[in-house]
Amino acid sequence: MQVPFAKPKFFGGEAEALAEVIASGWVSQGPRVQAFENAFAARVGAEHAIATTNCTTALHLALYASGVGPGDEVIVPSLSFIATANAVWHCGATPVFADVEPLTYNLDPVAAERAITPRTKAIMPVHQIGLPADMDGFFAIGERHGVKIIEDAACAIGATYKGRPIGSLESPACFSLHPRKVITSGEGGMITTNDGALADRLRKLRQHAMDLSDLARHNAKDILFESYPERGWNTRMTDMQAALGLCQLQALDEIVAERKRQADRYTAALASIPLLEPPYEPGYAVRTWQSYAVRVSPSAPIDRTELMRRLLHDGVATRRGVMAIHHEPAYAGTDLLLPHTEAAARDSILLPLFPGLGDDAQDYVIERLGLHMMARAA
Ligand SMILES: *Cc1c(COP(=O)(O)O)cnc(C)c1O
Repeated sequence: MQVPFAKPKFFGGEAEALAEVIASGWVSQGPRVQAFENAFAARVGAEHAIATTNCTTALHLALYASGVGPGDEVIVPSLSFIATANAVWHCGATPVFADVEPLTYNLDPVAAERAITPRTKAIMPVHQIGLPADMDGFFAIGERHGVKIIEDAACAIGATYKGRPIGSLESPACFSLHPRKVITSGEGGMITTNDGALADRLRKLRQHAMDLSDLARHNAKDILFESYPERGWNTRMTDMQAALGLCQLQALDEIVAERKRQADRYTAALASIPLLEPPYEPGYAVRTWQSYAVRVSPSAPIDRTELMRRLLHDGVATRRGVMAIHHEPAYAGTDLLLPHTEAAARDSILLPLFPGLGDDAQDYVIERLGLHMMARAA
């Protein structure tokens, strides 16, 4: 049997939605993007949503609009996808890595506060693989030290923190619409915020800070000349992507429910497999199960990488757990001590989980896992 690691699911109607956009003649950012933004904001309970080309540019714009610039520091977890740090670098600022909590794998508020210096402008917690970070801790630190909080919510659409949807909290949140995340528009990103002035600035920054949108000019009854009060970027989503995103957004509840069902099946099965630890479930959050991360005990007969190798041989695709950015050559050079990050990066493995993964395929993964964990070391 061949079990893929991940695959987006489409529910029908996407091709028609895209054909409509093409037939309309308006394929760049326009009415579909606006409709997608409105639907997205409504879904996560935010006042505003601003679409971008991807989550990395969303993070960049959100950091920039929060005042992050050259010479500043932004505290981030090293245990994250490298885009988290790259977005800080895109602002000309320096990412400062702090350790994660040993159970949630999310940025530890205590470690983040300890990393604050006079140059710290912001802290960017990540809702890692869809599990919300402990935001109240970060909001308190933000107030105590006068630093901004920006959420890397790449994998977290559909998650809640203490009953509140991610995207509706006090800080701007940035989502990814890449196929490896919860819902997709091919490529795409979204920033949500309840701050009207920030939303307005973000909308301008994503199109060279032009003070008029194409839509406004198109709908104008008189000649309008745009002006550029500051410098900006082009991080616009297309109406074709937005049409796909709208279809996916409608299926979000179904997608998240199916992800949870599969996660529950793994967790139940892991109870009878020794030396494999299921993901920790904090009481404060509902997660999206963008990925299912298992920790291989250091006393297991085989280590994480050997387990991945044997599963691959069985036809089961897995991925290593979330990377440690400071291990990569691109961010090497500091001898940081991040023990929980090191352990998580070394011992965790992501199992196949996606809408469309059949129960028989999942049962096969579970059976092979049990076999390898109970075998004696070769
Ligand atoms: C995927 C991911 C990103 C980047 O998202 P893109 O849409 O691919 O730019 C950023 N942060 C985290 C935590 C991610 O998982």
